[in-house]
Amino acid sequence: MVWKKKEGIPYNRPKNTYRILKGEQPKCDFCSELAWYDGLTIRGMWGYMCREHFTGLGVGLGLGKGQEIVVVRGGDVNEN
Ligand SMILES: [Zn+2]
Repeated sequence: MVWKKKEGIPYNRPKNTYRILKGEQPKCDFCSELAWYDGLTIRGMWGYMCREHFTGLGVGLGLGKGQEIVVVRGGDVNEN
C-alpha cells in the first residue's frame, strides 16, 4: 500500500493509522531492520515491525491494530 506523503507527514489518512515519533527510528522487534509499524501481531503481542514483518505478522492499521511510524527529527509537527 502506497500512501501519499507531504514533507514526510502522511495526509488524507484515517486517524489511528499512523503515529508521529520524534528522534531515532526504532528497530523491528523480529529482526534488525528499521521498524515502520507499531502494532498488534497475529501472535497476540504488540511490537515494532519492519515492512516485511508487518506484512507477515501484522493484523492491519487502525485503532487497536497498528500504526505506521512517522519519524520526525526536530521542528514542529503538523499532524493535520
Ligand atoms: Zn523485521
